[in-house]
Amino acid sequence: MLTVILLEHFKMVEKFFICPHCWQNISMLIDISVEKQLYIEDCENCCNPIEIECEVKSNEITYFNPQPIGQ
Ligand SMILES: [Zn+2]
Repeated sequence: MLTVILLEHFKMVEKFFICPHCWQNISMLIDISVEKQLYIEDCENCCNPIEIECEVKSNEITYFNPQPIGQ
């Protein structure tokens, strides 16, 4: 299920996925106005860093790859 939220110039989509650290279902807001992105965000459940690789086409997430980052 996708929730689209319009915030001024940003188009954010809530993406649900399994955290590669704690295996819990978590969600993050993805800016779908950016076609290709690679960034690091902490898991909302276990607070471990996750590297997010994401590709967007026509306002849809076509590729999403969360990778665990060791500390
Ligand atoms: Zn986690």
